[in-house]
Amino acid sequence: MLELTAIETFYGNIQALKGVSLKVAQGEIVTLIGANGAGKSTTLMSISGVVHPRKGSIAFLGEDVTASSTERIVSMGITQVPEGRMIFPRLTVRENLLMGAYLRKDKAGVRDDEEHAYALFPVLRERRSQMGGTLSGGEQQMLAIGRALMARPKLLLLDEPSLGLAPLVVENIFEIIVQINKDGVTVMLVEQNAQMALQIAHRGYVLETGHVTLEGPGKDLLNNPKVRSAYLGLD
Ligand code: ATP
Repeated sequence: MLELTAIETFYGNIQALKGVSLKVAQGEIVTLIGANGAGKSTTLMSISGVVHPRKGSIAFLGEDVTASSTERIVSMGITQVPEGRMIFPRLTVRENLLMGAYLRKDKAGVRDDEEHAYALFPVLRERRSQMGGTLSGGEQQMLAIGRALMARPKLLLLDEPSLGLAPLVVENIFEIIVQINKDGVTVMLVEQNAQMALQIAHRGYVLETGHVTLEGPGKDLLNNPKVRSAYLGLD
């Protein structure tokens, strides 16, 4: 579904990605783990077209999207849930959800998807008239995911959905990610919480200073001695 080939992404003179290659097949949950500054967010933003790689290529569903606009990429079926949620604090929960459907013209489908978001996250229905900024961190994460689903993505990019949330809320969010994947959405998950991410992921990649250093099935990476000591704080 998605293939990155040796992408190199820069911020001015700073090279954040130094030749990242990875693949995501339809139906998978693929996780990208790594320390702060390894380039995880930059990889997602390169895929969604927020920054464009200077070298290498990105293909989605067989089309070269390396230089495509974010608008084009969203309309092809990729949506990103950014780190820090980035909900609109002064819009209501419902208005935030509808912003996710900004590019869609099928009103009936959008109504169905709004209902689907409330079914996945019942708390959002209860709070649909409340300002987004008044929600708790966990609720804002649910809103950010619900908003992304309103674009009816084929591939959902999640940047650190567990960041700053209480353990029980994190568990709930991870269960919902699995549910979304079972409903047919392919997921790419960036996480500092490597333990939980590798437990739900079909496959994972380890990123270190702009390079992929390890890859494999989630369960294998969980048992890999290097991953255990560097990212899981075990052994
Ligand atoms: P984190 O978990 O802290 O977000 P990350 O693995 O997602 O880390 P990136 O945010 O992708 O890492 O950052 C990769 C590198 O690019 C880092 O060295 C970072 O300092 C640099 N970088 C990121 N964003 C910018 C920017 N807007 N301008 C300059 N450098 C940046």
